[in-house]
Amino acid sequence: MVTLKSERELGLMRVAGKAVAQILDEMIRMVEPGITTGELDQYAESRCKELKVIPAFKGYHGFPACVCISVNEEVVHGIPSKKKTLKAGDIVGLDFGVHYEGWYGDSARTVPVGKVSAEATQLLKVTQESLMRGIAACKEGNRVFDIGHAVQNYVEPFGYGVVREFVGHGIGRALHEDPQVPNYGPKGKGLQLKVGMVLAIEPMINAGSHEVKVLNDGWTAVTVDKALSAHFEHTVAITPNGPEILTRLE
Ligand code: MG
Ligand code: MG
Repeated sequence: MVTLKSERELGLMRVAGKAVAQILDEMIRMVEPGITTGELDQYAESRCKELKVIPAFKGYHGFPACVCISVNEEVVHGIPSKKKTLKAGDIVGLDFGVHYEGWYGDSARTVPVGKVSAEATQLLKVTQESLMRGIAACKEGNRVFDIGHAVQNYVEPFGYGVVREFVGHGIGRALHEDPQVPNYGPKGKGLQLKVGMVLAIEPMINAGSHEVKVLNDGWTAVTVDKALSAHFEHTVAITPNGPEILTRLE
């Protein structure tokens, strides 16, 4: 079932979204060679307590941490660890969500660790831009697949693969609500978008084949061809004035 959010409910989702943006910003400032993914996760957990929001991912289907941290060929759902140290040349995806008074926010960014290759820099730039193009399609009267079409149409000419197995989603009282929002698909198809819908738009783009597999830890998704992968996400409300990004600081 697709739910429409009232103005009061959107207000609570803005609080959740701002907390996500704030904590993600802070984690990203900490990213440098030598830090462990476990330290980043621990920092996010302590900041949730201070900002009085609840981490959304910890315990979700048994996920063991607050942040999904995915390095290089890891696509999504990497498990943070004090034994996993970031090094110069890596790219690291931080996917983070919270809830506040029962309302969720969800966002992700992929950033360089120290100096990275030109290939990695381009992948990050193109994936971020594909998110913005997907968000631009989040307009009343458009259809769900218009979002994925905008993403796919932009990234595939670079020779990149759009991940199929994981998709964006509605969000609100639950982290994952209907509808599913694929990052690919035919223009003009799917559910019609209405004011009050809130969607997490989250392209996962591989610098190679779109194929992914899940490692034996039961969580970490990686590219089958070991190519780099990037992930950007925002929680976006459809308003009479167009898309409003909830997981961004002013
Ligand atoms: Mg997310
Ligand atoms: Mg999400």
